[in-house]
Amino acid sequence: MLPFKTLQEAESAIGRSLTTAETIWFNYSANKSDYYLYCHNILFLFLIFSCVPLYYLFLEIFFRKSIQSYKIQPKVNLSLSDVFRCYKVVMRMFILVVGPLQLVSYPSVKMIGIRTSLPLPSLWVILLQLGTYFIVEDYTNYWIHRFLHCKWGYEKIHKVHHEYTAPIGFAAPYAHWLEILILGIPSFLGPAIAPGHMITFWLWIAFRQIEAIETHSGYDLPWSITKYIPFYGGADYHDYHHYVGGQSQSNFASVFTYCDYIYGTDKVISVLWVFIFGLQVPFCNHTDSYTMLLLISQGYRYQKKVLQQLKGASNSNGEQNGGSATFAKDCKDD
Ligand SMILES: [Zn+2]
Ligand SMILES: [Zn+2]
Repeated sequence: MLPFKTLQEAESAIGRSLTTAETIWFNYSANKSDYYLYCHNILFLFLIFSCVPLYYLFLEIFFRKSIQSYKIQPKVNLSLSDVFRCYKVVMRMFILVVGPLQLVSYPSVKMIGIRTSLPLPSLWVILLQLGTYFIVEDYTNYWIHRFLHCKWGYEKIHKVHHEYTAPIGFAAPYAHWLEILILGIPSFLGPAIAPGHMITFWLWIAFRQIEAIETHSGYDLPWSITKYIPFYGGADYHDYHHYVGGQSQSNFASVFTYCDYIYGTDKVISVLWVFIFGLQVPFCNHTDSYTMLLLISQGYRYQKKVLQQLKGASNSNGEQNGGSATFAKDCKDD
């Protein structure tokens, strides 16, 4: 709730006229409690979990032939009832875990200093904070995810998320309730380190989940703008992790590729090989530093060749839950 009763009061407190965005924010939030504003995340998450995967489902139903070449595991086709089953489980977890977690976590959000007040942060501040949140989340998530792949963590918790060896968008939040709670920590850590405005917090929660859905979509769509983000993992990167399954000891990172690269868990033929085989890599004729960054970050795309070899050997895979766990177990990762 804002400490101003009128726009004039807000303007005199800030010492300037409100921008259009600030006026909209004032009109919307002036009489709403901070707790109520924070709980908007429940609605946002519900809409994201329900609607964003529909985009991929829509493409699959109506443009199947056109996008087939972008499907990462083309031999795997889930029925609509399988997809709906996945969504039902996700919604049950949403009602029992995600929603209540949002409802009770408000004191910690208040404690770290997420504010709803005016003035609003500039676009640059928002982008800088979102970038920080993604980096912090990626790093922390990497280590938790690695832990979840130890025998105990996998058998007791992480196995549920790996039921889909060929993931779909709806399966991004498909996980054991404890994993949902544990992975709330990396999402919370960034805002705790660099607390910002409630709007930034909403954007963070939304973008992180949209990113996770893209990563689990099962499609490596060439028009995705995330392809221009250096060191971005993307769908094929994470798909490989799911494909290998429980024995996977690579591609742990949730967003970027550099943690796996630094800690030696990337399913990447080293940068050296990328340069040696540079002729097969896009942008290989250029030598500017940005291109080099893209080149390095896309080195993992060589794993796709490995994946295709594996796919060639698994013609009979993939009727249920996106593939055969048996084959994944036979497949030595690294
Ligand atoms: Zn995993
Ligand atoms: Zn996953």
